Amino acid sequence: MLNLLRARLNQGHRTLDFPRSASPLPERYRGMPHVDPAKCADGCRACADACPVDAISVGAQGQRPDPRIDLGSCVFCADCVQACPTSALRYTQEFRMAARTRQDLVVGAEGMKLAQALDAKSRALFGRSLKLRQVSAGGCNGCEVEVNVLGTIVFDIVRFGIQMVASPRHADGLLITGPVTRNMRLALQKTYDAVPGPKLVIAVGGCAISGGPFRDHPQVTNGADATLPVDLYVPGCPPHPLTILDGLLRLLGRIEEGKR
Ligand code: SF4
Repeated sequence: MLNLLRARLNQGHRTLDFPRSASPLPERYRGMPHVDPAKCADGCRACADACPVDAISVGAQGQRPDPRIDLGSCVFCADCVQACPTSALRYTQEFRMAARTRQDLVVGAEGMKLAQALDAKSRALFGRSLKLRQVSAGGCNGCEVEVNVLGTIVFDIVRFGIQMVASPRHADGLLITGPVTRNMRLALQKTYDAVPGPKLVIAVGGCAISGGPFRDHPQVTNGADATLPVDLYVPGCPPHPLTILDGLLRLLGRIEEGKR
């Protein structure tokens, strides 16, 4: 018993004081991109040409490039940063990137509109107790691992009343990872149908949002919203656990709107 107490004291408190503070992220972490179009040379499209998943759009020939990055497609490879001849693009340590609509994931110099909370009625239903059934719809296991990590003592998602459950019949919604392969589409639909309403759908990771690197492959259906209505998009390849947690807490109104 004394040994147990000694070990407990030595270990101390390991759960993050999130959302009040977040852990320092590793130096190599790639979060929200920052674009400085003033540095772009007219007619340059080096970043767009370098992107392996066509996540960057630039102005037409003869216009200022004004690059816009679709975080829902981006795989955070940083090829664009390396290709940019004027250092107009860089990746920051900003992990807050979840949005309510697909359009809000397209970012330029002005940054992005973070996820807004559900309406008051839905917050009253889900705000203090949210049970989610996780569906891996053809994922590589990268996003699934990050979702699992939320259950560890570091993130301890259960203290917010959020829990992953084994059956859709016990769930308030689905948390979907993977590009939704044709083989998984029916299973996903049936799982959704088994969740009692009202229900939420959360798409986690570039694949679940847009198909990611598999977009337009004949065997995938390009993400969750081709099959189901999505309430929250969490970008990343895979997203950091803090990006997922931040998105969920914003959706539930547990982080004040507009606050970083
Ligand atoms: S970091 Fe994103 S936007 Fe840049 S090249 Fe890679 S996938 Fe494209």
